[in-house]
Amino acid sequence: MADRHNLGEFDLIRRYLAPLASDAPLAFGLTDDAAVIRPEPGDDIVVTKDAIVSNVHFLESDPPERVAQKLLRVNLSDLAAMGAEPKAYLVAAVLPRSVDADWVAAFASGLAEDQRRFGVSLIGGDTVSTDGPLSLSLTAFGRVPRGTALKRSGARVGDDVYVSGTIGDGALGLKAVRGDLKPGGDQRDFLIRRYQRPEPRVTLGPKLIGLASSAIDISDGLVADLQHICDTSRCAITVELARVPLSEAAKSALAQDIALLETILSGGDDYELAFTVDPSKTEELLHRADSLHADVTKIGTVSDGGNVTVVDRNGAPMALPAPGYCHF
Ligand SMILES: [Mg+2]
Repeated sequence: MADRHNLGEFDLIRRYLAPLASDAPLAFGLTDDAAVIRPEPGDDIVVTKDAIVSNVHFLESDPPERVAQKLLRVNLSDLAAMGAEPKAYLVAAVLPRSVDADWVAAFASGLAEDQRRFGVSLIGGDTVSTDGPLSLSLTAFGRVPRGTALKRSGARVGDDVYVSGTIGDGALGLKAVRGDLKPGGDQRDFLIRRYQRPEPRVTLGPKLIGLASSAIDISDGLVADLQHICDTSRCAITVELARVPLSEAAKSALAQDIALLETILSGGDDYELAFTVDPSKTEELLHRADSLHADVTKIGTVSDGGNVTVVDRNGAPMALPAPGYCHF
C-alpha cells in the first residue's frame, strides 16, 4: 500500500488530480495559480458547492469511487435543478493520516469515470492534511443562456407539479445499506445503487428552460423540497399520493410495510427533479421529455396557500410525517 505521506501534497495533485484536468485547456494542467472560465457570449455561469464529512455523510470505509461519484453527482443535480448544463468543477480533499494514496487514486478514478459520463472536467483542486475527519468539498460550474436559470420562486396558482424518475429509492437504499430494510437480492442492489450513485438529471434540467415556472432537486425529501417551492413561490402544493411514481422495488417494500411511506415521501436522497409547469405547456413538456427518454410524472397542482398537502385516493389530506432528513 503506497504511503501517501511519502508523497507531498503537490505530488498527490500532480499524480491523481492533474490527469482529470487534461480535457480542460484553461485549467493549464493544474500547474497555475488558478484556472480560467471563459463563458460563451450570452451565457450565465451557474455555481454550486457541497461539502461532505466522514461519519456524517459517508463512512471512511465506503468505496472511495462511490464517495467521489456521489459528491460530484449531488452537485450536478443542483445544476440540473437550475437548468444548467454542467461544465467544470473544483475539488478540495481534507485528508486525515489514515487515508493513503490508494484511497486518493480510487477517489480520482471514480471522478474520471463520471467525467466521461457527464461531460465535465476538473479545473482545480487542493489536498490538505488534517487531524480531523476526512472532509471533501466540490464546487461545480454550469452554463445557461443569460437570465434563464430556473429558480424555486416562479410557481403559479394553477400550475401542474411534476417529478422526474421515481421517488423514495434513495432513502430506501440507505435503509438497505444500514440493514434496516431487507429486500430481495436484485431489489436490494437496485435501491443501494440509487442511494450510492444517484442519477443527476443533467439533460432534463436544461430542457425545462422556457417550460418550468419553478424547479428544485429532491435532496431533503419530496415533501420538504416541495415546501421550499411553496415558501419561495408563496403558494400551496397538493400532491396526489396515488400519482407519485414508485419503482418496483419501492412498491414491493411498501407492500410489506406501509410505514415505509414516510421514508418514501420524506426520506430524501432522490436527486430527481421536482418542477411546476403551466398546463398550456403540457404537450411541449411531454414531447421534450420523450425526446430524452426521460420519465416525468404529474403528481399534483399549485394553489393558493403556503403548504404542501398530500391527499389519498379520496382527496382526503394525509397526516404528513415530519421531515425525515437524516444522515449517518
Ligand atoms: Mg438542491
